[in-house]
Amino acid sequence: MKRTKIQNLLKNGVPGTRVTAAGWVRTRRDAKGFSFLELNDGSCLANLQVIADATLPGFDETVLRLYPGASAVVEGVLAASQGKGQSVELRAESVRVLGLSDPLAYPLGKQRIGFERLRELPHLRARTNSFGAVARVRSALAAAVHRFFRERGFVYVHTPLITASDCEGAGEMFQVSVPGNPDFFGARAALTVSGQLEGEAYACALGDIYTFGPTFRAENSNTRRHLSEFWMIEPEMAFADLDDDAELAEAFLRALFACVLEECGEDLAFFEKRVLPGVTARLERLASTPFTRVSYTEAIERMEKSSHPFEFKPSWGIDLQSEHERFLTEEVFNGPVIVTDYPKEIKAFYMRRNDDGKTVAAMDVLLPEVGEIIGGSQREERLDVLEGILRSAGLKPESYADYLDLRRFGSVPHAGFGLGFDRLVQICTGMHNIRDVIPYPRAPGCIR
Ligand code: ATP
Ligand code: MN
Repeated sequence: MKRTKIQNLLKNGVPGTRVTAAGWVRTRRDAKGFSFLELNDGSCLANLQVIADATLPGFDETVLRLYPGASAVVEGVLAASQGKGQSVELRAESVRVLGLSDPLAYPLGKQRIGFERLRELPHLRARTNSFGAVARVRSALAAAVHRFFRERGFVYVHTPLITASDCEGAGEMFQVSVPGNPDFFGARAALTVSGQLEGEAYACALGDIYTFGPTFRAENSNTRRHLSEFWMIEPEMAFADLDDDAELAEAFLRALFACVLEECGEDLAFFEKRVLPGVTARLERLASTPFTRVSYTEAIERMEKSSHPFEFKPSWGIDLQSEHERFLTEEVFNGPVIVTDYPKEIKAFYMRRNDDGKTVAAMDVLLPEVGEIIGGSQREERLDVLEGILRSAGLKPESYADYLDLRRFGSVPHAGFGLGFDRLVQICTGMHNIRDVIPYPRAPGCIR
């Protein structure tokens, strides 16, 4: 079928030209002698207004049977629009029904329905303004991720989703097994919680790499920021330290915020109006404010000195709670903060030991209003140190043979981080719940 996308018609359509548009009817209004159809094809937020004259051949059997949700192909001539807010409208010369939609049964009729109810309609919710806009922003961001790394010479690596390593301790794992054939892989297998360990292997051969794929965590977190299946971006750089890591994280986040501001104006205006007033200004601030770097130790000192009534009293050694993250980003530094050098006890075994004997070269990137978006570190590249850490943690070095090999043969300083892609989409759209920024959310008790 030859059709022009509505986005192109509204952007570049020249009055007087003959075109074909196809889409789903959002509304139909009947006036004396003609009907208005609002047609949406998902290429952009805006609808194309179609004017169908009652004298059209077959008007009653086609136009008058179109209700919200129905699909149709309209051929006609573009005309300068009299209505405000759109450049052109389509004067129909033929209307062909593709699929009818029963107005009594279609769940997305006239009245607005809430996001919670829409979660029960994952197959239809993409047809709403909100979810269409989220899908377009998500896609623009994914493309920007690849563009960013490609421009910097990072190699995109596909790390496995089914893995035998339960290394990281990043989270609870989903087991993968075959009923009746427990020995399918010949070892215990699970869905990955992070591509980092495999990413390190590729960084220690190719230099700079990144992964971008699904990640699975079986933790029972029923929050608006956690999913059981989410998408993570994990760059890993050889010949790099924690400073390089922090620099990359800042440049990366700013590039992504700028992408949404530049490329998703129409959708952003929608979020501003209907989802979170202020989301645009927030993005502009994030894209232009330099990130402050502060050590964990200094961050704790700042909080201890303040008179802020923390629910959970800050003291050296605690993991930062979201009230602490918010205090640092919103009250102390008034912008994004990169907290570095955490106590070794609260971070993963592979993070590089600092000379003070107490902290590791870790970093978390915290954003105002949202909290942690990135967790990363410089990795321990010294074989003897790493073996010592494993032993004192009661872990068997044999289980980490491949990982230790990277330190045995041509070890290099290297660093990387993990960014939760869905949380990024949340920030850029202002959507409150992470279950509403991924097409088919998976969370405890939630699958469809
Ligand atoms: P949190 O403390 O928020 O649970 P984490 O410390 O377990 O996160 P990391 O292991 O550091 O997270 O993972 C890197 C990034 O992946 C996080 O900064 C976050 O953006 C994202 N992330 C982690 N867990 C989830 C989840 N369950 N759902 C969505 N995104 C997640
Ligand atoms: Mn983390």
